[in-house]
Amino acid sequence: MRKLLSLAILFVVTLANTVSAQNRPVPSKGFAVTSADGKFHEYQFNRHAIGDNEILIETMYASICHSDVHHVRADWGKEEYPMVPGHEIAGKVTKVGKNVTKFKVGDFAGVGCMVNSCGHCEFCKAGLEQYCKEVVLTYHDKDQFHNNEVTQGGYSNNIVLTENFAIKIPANADMSKVAPLLCAGITSYSPLHYAGVKKGDKVGVAGYGGLGHMALQYAVKLGAEVTVFDITEDKRADAKRMGAAKYVNVNNPEDLKGLDNSLNFIISTIPASYDPNMYLKMLKIDGQMAFVGLPPYAVMPTVPIDKLIWQGNRKVFGSQIGGIKETQEMLDYSIANNTYPEVEIIPATTSSIETAYQNVLAGKVKFRYVIDMKTLK
Ligand code: NDP
Repeated sequence: MRKLLSLAILFVVTLANTVSAQNRPVPSKGFAVTSADGKFHEYQFNRHAIGDNEILIETMYASICHSDVHHVRADWGKEEYPMVPGHEIAGKVTKVGKNVTKFKVGDFAGVGCMVNSCGHCEFCKAGLEQYCKEVVLTYHDKDQFHNNEVTQGGYSNNIVLTENFAIKIPANADMSKVAPLLCAGITSYSPLHYAGVKKGDKVGVAGYGGLGHMALQYAVKLGAEVTVFDITEDKRADAKRMGAAKYVNVNNPEDLKGLDNSLNFIISTIPASYDPNMYLKMLKIDGQMAFVGLPPYAVMPTVPIDKLIWQGNRKVFGSQIGGIKETQEMLDYSIANNTYPEVEIIPATTSSIETAYQNVLAGKVKFRYVIDMKTLK
């Protein structure tokens, strides 16, 4: 009898969490900026009701990407506020729509930079949803699939999205370190694989921060010999510890000697003004350079055509995050190979987020701040 009763209770709970009948907006709370001044405020808002193909994720951790800092400061042009940043999100599924098959209540799930796309254009079909003209970004975007509601990000206690854009996180993952993989991880993993980096290749990682330290780890795992470039002495020992063969402080002319025509692949994650040509000259014949760092428009570097011609037979490409399938592949690979970001966990308060932003800008973070959203009051 007792067993029957427990089964009945389980059935009712499962039914309650399978939300086909629920059509109510989901209340959410977190932290928003209301202008480019970088001041965070506690903020309450509604997310759209959970659709039949959607899931509700309770945020456990959300990390701070330099792109969040760029957005908040309007580095890439006019922004709209209030804005809840956060596109590196890891949490637990707490409700599922009636048609959901990929997740069940209690599973761990992650969200990166996108929450939806058209699903039928050539980019979506190729697993490159990030280039879909109708892609819906996780925050600071209009969601045309939900009456143009403005999307809000992961510095909040929950998120609702289609199961197709949520990434499965294996139960054995270290959840406190997973969130940065959803952007920093895939943005560095994807171009390394696109370029076909292989064992023995000589790889340069320019900008050794959130993205850069993931690029270093993935490249080392592929068997490459990696040279790291940054602007400080403070990270020399960290680079060696993570497997770099060489560390170059670009402010030290001695360090830069003898590097021309020496590298097969370079990834630039630099978020500020710099001279790309310095790196192009370092490429060997048939070498490739991927740009992922996106500096503020006011100081955006350019690559002059003449330099490309004088240093021909090298290839240059840009890369934006990675598609959903590849993001899942990266996440599974990272967990299976114990390849995690190095993180500093901070509490979910306005002051700790503001301090973290200042430290990212001052180059004081090693290597990613992760907000423990479970501490949100
Ligand atoms: P971080 O701030 O964590 O790391 C950037 C690193 O670059 C820091 O170590 C910084 O040094 C270093 N750096 C700054 N200037 C130079 C320079 N002139 N030469 C060499 N190194 C330099 O940023 P993230 O890794 O989070 O992001 C990096 C960039 O990538 C950002 O512009 C971000 O918007 C972009 N991005 C792009 C994506 C895409 O899809 N293409 C996705 C995600 C991010 P220090 O710390 O000492 O200042």
